[in-house]
Amino acid sequence: MAEIVVQKYGGTSVGDLERIRKVAARVARTVAEGRKVAVTVSAMGRTTDALVSIAREVGARPDRRELDMLLATGEQQSVALLALTLHTLGVKARSFTGPQAGFLTDSRSGDARILEVDPKALLEAFETADVAVVAGFQGADEGGMITTLGRGGSDTTAVAVAAALGARECEIYTDTDGVYTTDPHLVPTATKLARLDYDEMLELASLGAKVLHPRSVWYARRYGVRIHVRSSFSYSPGTLVTKLEEARVKTDKPVTGVALDRNHARIDLTGLPDEPGVAARIFGALGEAGVNADTIIQG
Ligand code: ADP
Ligand code: ASP
Ligand code: MG
Repeated sequence: MAEIVVQKYGGTSVGDLERIRKVAARVARTVAEGRKVAVTVSAMGRTTDALVSIAREVGARPDRRELDMLLATGEQQSVALLALTLHTLGVKARSFTGPQAGFLTDSRSGDARILEVDPKALLEAFETADVAVVAGFQGADEGGMITTLGRGGSDTTAVAVAAALGARECEIYTDTDGVYTTDPHLVPTATKLARLDYDEMLELASLGAKVLHPRSVWYARRYGVRIHVRSSFSYSPGTLVTKLEEARVKTDKPVTGVALDRNHARIDLTGLPDEPGVAARIFGALGEAGVNADTIIQG
């Protein structure tokens, strides 16, 4: 079979029909080069935010299972629209929801982890079609319950598709032309990084540089998938995220980049007894509830 290229287009890149046409043209170009394309897309523009808002209008704390059912529809719209647009260009394309594409997750609604990706349906599709369009950010648990992978999770879908199909590289198309030393929309003097290694990227992503979903970097490192972050508005090369040996000549530069996270809560616990086992009880309970504590200061 022809080589399979894995691409992902984020919300801004599929923000309206005009942009979806541009994405379709780019995918069609890759097909014209004789390759098959597994393309992951996010929900259009701010659709996911709008869906969260409408659920909160119904009730302040929506049930997480039902919220996932609702949020997953955002990506379902974009896969169908991209497939339909590809058809108008004469490209044979088929769309898939996450579960249809073989994404089995755990049952943690709103923050599900991928347990396994069965590539069978995608491989079968490639026997007759040239493009498989996969809905990002979603899967289903063993009982068939629809789950989502956490905000920004379409990046992880794309890397997982690449790993499952045995592709060496995953192209992540977004609204910047690569990974910068810090958010280029906030700091215009930020500079683009040509390459960085998984650990550097994981640290930046975990600290809030939302250009890549942290779990996508973790997944890429685990399965040895190179990530190429690039612009959906140009054809210039972007940033390669690879293993250290490939990343660059190691310099003594102590800082690679700076990240900003506006979504943090600080919780102070006071009056705790100063005895062994207290910290373990607190962090054990947080861990069981799936809550990440980023910075811990004990005084
Ligand atoms: P997409 O919808 O394509 O997934 P996101 O909005 O999730 O795009 O991520 C891209 C955004 O990440 C950029 O628009 C930029 O503002 C932000 N960003 C934060 N830190 C960085 C960084 N170090 N390099 C590039 N972009 C960054
Ligand atoms: N649509 C989801 C979100 O807005 C997933 C993604 O864009 O990666 O978080
Ligand atoms: Mg994103």
